Amino acid sequence: MSKTFETNFIWHNGSIVPWQEAKVHVMTNGLHYGTGVFEGIRAYWNGKQLYVFRLQDHVNRFFNSIKIYDFGIDFTKDQISEGIKETLRKNELKTDVYIRPLAVKGYGPIGLDVRKLKTEVFIITMPYGRYFEKEGIEVLVSSWRRISSQTLPVIAKVTGHYSNSVLAKLDALNKGFDDAILLNEEGKVCEGTGENIMMVKDGVIYTPPISAGILDGITRRSIMEFAPDLGLKVVEKDIDRGELYTADELFFVGTAAEVTPILKVDGRQIGDGRVGPVSKKLKEYFFSITQGKVDKYLKWLEAVW
Ligand code: PMP
Repeated sequence: MSKTFETNFIWHNGSIVPWQEAKVHVMTNGLHYGTGVFEGIRAYWNGKQLYVFRLQDHVNRFFNSIKIYDFGIDFTKDQISEGIKETLRKNELKTDVYIRPLAVKGYGPIGLDVRKLKTEVFIITMPYGRYFEKEGIEVLVSSWRRISSQTLPVIAKVTGHYSNSVLAKLDALNKGFDDAILLNEEGKVCEGTGENIMMVKDGVIYTPPISAGILDGITRRSIMEFAPDLGLKVVEKDIDRGELYTADELFFVGTAAEVTPILKVDGRQIGDGRVGPVSKKLKEYFFSITQGKVDKYLKWLEAVW
C-alpha cells in the first residue's frame, strides 16, 4: 500500500509496527457503523524542541468520547500519552506534526452489539503543515444542519458523527467554497465541519456556547483563556446567520485549522475582505504559544525530545 504521507511507524494496541502492518479486517465493526472515536492533536517544532499542544486535554477528551459510547479501552490515559510521544520519537519527527489517536470497535459478527468486540487502538503521527492552504477562506452556510445533541452526543469525537461534516464539506467544495458553517436545529450558528467559529464585532469576540451543540474545542478554550493577554474579550453567545454577514471579522479555530480567517460568507465580504487585526494578533500569539515562546503557557506544552 503506497503511503499517503511520510510516516514509517504506527502504534497499534501497545506495539509500534511498520506502516504496512497497521491493518484491520474488513469485518471491523467501526468500518460498518462508525463505531470509533478519535482525536486530532498537533505538535509544533520550534527548531530545538517538539512540543505537543495540550496533550492531556486531548487524551482526556479521547477517553470521554470512549466513555460516552461505553466502548471500553485496554489502555490507560498515561499509556496513550506515552504511546503518542513514543511514536513521535520512533518516527524521528522534528517538524510540525499532526497526531491521530483512533479507537475503533473491532473484528466481529455483523450487528450492533459491540459489547464483546475488542477496541482496536492506533496512534498515527505525520508531518503536517496548514490545513487550509489559503491565508483566508470563503465559506457557505450549509443547508445541512449540525447534528443535534438530542440525536447524537456531539461532545464526543466519534467517527460516525463526521458523515454530517463530510456532507457539508463536499457540498461546499462542489459549489466552489473552501468550507461550510453549519447552523444547529434552532437555526443558530453552530460550527464548521471540523472547526469552531469566532466572530469579531466592535472589538469584542463572540463565539457560540457549548449549549449550541458545538464540539468543546480545545483551541477555542485556549483562545478564550489567552485573549485577555491581548486586551481582547471572548463572549459566548448564540449567533444568528445574519450577524455573520455584518461581522467585522470571522475566523475558524481548531487543531487542524488553527486560526483561519474567513473572508467571505455566502458571497458576502466580511469587513474589508482582508485578514483583520484581531484574527492576525490571535494567530501570531497562538503560534508563539505553541512554539514555547510564552512562559505562561508552557503548561500547555509537552516536550517530546
Ligand atoms: N468542531 C469540530 C466538529 C471538530 O471536528 C473540531 C476538531 N477537533 C473542532 C470543532 C475544534 O476542536 P479542537 O480545537 O479541539 O481541535
